[in-house]
Amino acid sequence: MRQIEPPVDDGITYCLRHPNTETNLRCGRCDDLICPRCMVTSPVGARCPDCARIGRPAILDTSSSELTRAVVSGFAAAIAGAIALSIVVKILFAMPFIGIVYWIVAAGGMAVMGYLVGEAIRYGSGKKIDKRLKYVAAGCVFIGWLATFILLPVFGLPSSFIATSPGIVGLIIAYYIASSRVRL
Ligand SMILES: [Zn+2]
Ligand SMILES: [Zn+2]
Repeated sequence: MRQIEPPVDDGITYCLRHPNTETNLRCGRCDDLICPRCMVTSPVGARCPDCARIGRPAILDTSSSELTRAVVSGFAAAIAGAIALSIVVKILFAMPFIGIVYWIVAAGGMAVMGYLVGEAIRYGSGKKIDKRLKYVAAGCVFIGWLATFILLPVFGLPSSFIATSPGIVGLIIAYYIASSRVRL
């Protein structure tokens, strides 16, 4: 972009934006001299602040309102999932519970919750690619699991239903499914 070079007496070059800072770093896109104070590290190398702004795809920029929407959507999906799972368990608890059914309901139910939480976060964030969404997914899945743990006794059921092996395995599966829905 800019072709004007800073003074280059005695071979020492200075940052274009910080004329007192000696540097020999250049922006990989426009070749401007940059220094550690103003350079932006991108996946394709060092960039000056201007090029970093131009080169950055909008999909990588999650605004704080999008992040808030992602958290709220994920939380709502987790609570809705916990209520739905508790109701399903309540209905099925009337029947004789044999091992495999227990696994399908607890682990499968958590897996479905993980999918819903992941999708809610993905759409809530405007389908952004952001590492932070992975932590949102982890937090919301855990909230969903915890809400189920708290809700089951409200429905007159033992919370151990979700707190033994099938429920714990379900929690892990839910986490992997949720974080696979949000792209990193
Ligand atoms: Zn540049
Ligand atoms: Zn600089």
